Amino acid sequence: MHWSKERRGRRARAGLWTVLIAVTACFSALAQGPPGPAGRFVVMLDAAHGGDDAGATIVDQAGKPEPEKAYTLALSVKLRSLLGARGISVVTTRESDVTMAATQRAEIANHAKAQACLSLHAAMNGAGVHLFISSLAPAQGANLVPWTTAQAAWVSRSVALAGVLNSALLHAGLTVSVGRTALTAIDSMTCPAVAVEVAPERGHELESGAGLDDPAYQAKVADALAAALLEWRAEGAQP
Ligand SMILES: [Zn+2]
Repeated sequence: MHWSKERRGRRARAGLWTVLIAVTACFSALAQGPPGPAGRFVVMLDAAHGGDDAGATIVDQAGKPEPEKAYTLALSVKLRSLLGARGISVVTTRESDVTMAATQRAEIANHAKAQACLSLHAAMNGAGVHLFISSLAPAQGANLVPWTTAQAAWVSRSVALAGVLNSALLHAGLTVSVGRTALTAIDSMTCPAVAVEVAPERGHELESGAGLDDPAYQAKVADALAAALLEWRAEGAQP
């Protein structure tokens, strides 16, 4: 029954083509992405440290030391997915355990022309979330300042961004402190930029790292940061 086999073969091929066309159409739709109201709002997430630079040592609840670089990357990944789910474009400095110079991080941030740049850190000292803004004095005219102090022209916007982050974190019931400090990577960034350092929750600081490695605490911090960035976008934050 060659004829019948041949016909079945044709039918099978036709079926395969239909599936292939459907799959291709599906992938094209995915590649284009949802239209979304996000426009060109871009957030840059910098998981601080990485590779040869382990950062601080974080002791988890079991007493096991963990490098800060692992916490920062985990927070970056979590936050990226929260923001992505809300239609916000995210650019990251690293997606794996690689060594990166401060200048490379700033180059990525500046190339992205992001409306918010967050440099993520973790620490055992203090409690809650510490927000740091560059200690550079505000300057006018981004073209007149050297690369290493480019953030000077953005300090007032960075202070505004820190204010929105502060409100959202406080609203989530977290302890927050805001400070100014010299930040090698951020000082070269031409975007509203804040360093976010996550420490154990208040009340846990006397225990070894309790809170910092608690998934519920991590989720609370990430959710609050995502809410703050949505608020920043809603305010129509222009760089
Ligand atoms: Zn750090």
